[in-house]
Amino acid sequence: MKIYLATNNKGKIREINSLFKDTGIEFIGGVDLSSVVEDGNDYRENALIKALFVYKLSGTYVVSEDSGLEVDALQGAPGIHSARYADLLKANNATDNDNIAKLLSALKDVPKDKRTAKYVSAFCFIDGGAESFFMGEVHGKIIDSPRGNRGFGYDPVFVPDGYDKTFAELGDEVKNKISHRAVASAKLRDFLVDKFVRRTV
Ligand code: IMP
Repeated sequence: MKIYLATNNKGKIREINSLFKDTGIEFIGGVDLSSVVEDGNDYRENALIKALFVYKLSGTYVVSEDSGLEVDALQGAPGIHSARYADLLKANNATDNDNIAKLLSALKDVPKDKRTAKYVSAFCFIDGGAESFFMGEVHGKIIDSPRGNRGFGYDPVFVPDGYDKTFAELGDEVKNKISHRAVASAKLRDFLVDKFVRRTV
C-alpha cells in the first residue's frame, strides 16, 4: 500500500522507503509543503502541522516526520530550526553548506570533548481520527570540518557515538541501523505492519 509522506525532503523519502523496503508499504511524496508554516513548539507539533496539511488535501493516511540536530554547547540549537539555521528570517534558502558553516562557526572555540550533540526524530501518523507519534534519537559529536558526501543536512560533521566516521562517510548501510530516524521509524514500522499488514494476512 502507498502512504503519503508529508515532506519535500528527497533525502528523507529515500531513507524512509529504504527502512520499509520489505513491508509492502511505500511512501510517496509529491505534495508541495513550501507554504506550510512550521511554527510548533517542538518536533511533534511540527510533524502534526505537516501531516494535517497533507491530510486535508488527500483525505487519506499520512505520515510525517520532523527532526533536528541539538548541540549541547549551543543549549540545544539549532533544534527545531535545523533546516533554516543559517537563514532564520527565511530571507533566502539556507543550504546544507550554509547551515554547516554557521554551526562550525558557532562551535569554533568549543573543545572536542564538549562538542556533543544528538539528532532527534518525531514521526506522526494520522488516519483521520487519531494521531500517533514515534520518537528516536542518536547521540554523537560535531567535528570541526566536513567529511564525506553521502547523507544530507549536517551529516558531514556528525560522528555517531561508537564510530570514527561521519554519517556522510558511513552512508545508509550504517545510518539506517542507528540513526534517530531508524529508531523512530522502527516503532512506526511495528505500528503500521500491525495495522495494515498482519491484519490482512
Ligand atoms: P525538517 O525537514 O523540518 O524536519 O528539517 C530537518 C532538518 O534537520 C534537516 O533539514 C537537517 O538540517 C536536519 N536533519 C534532520 N535529520 C537529519 C539527518 O539525518 N542528517 C542530517 N541532517 C538532519
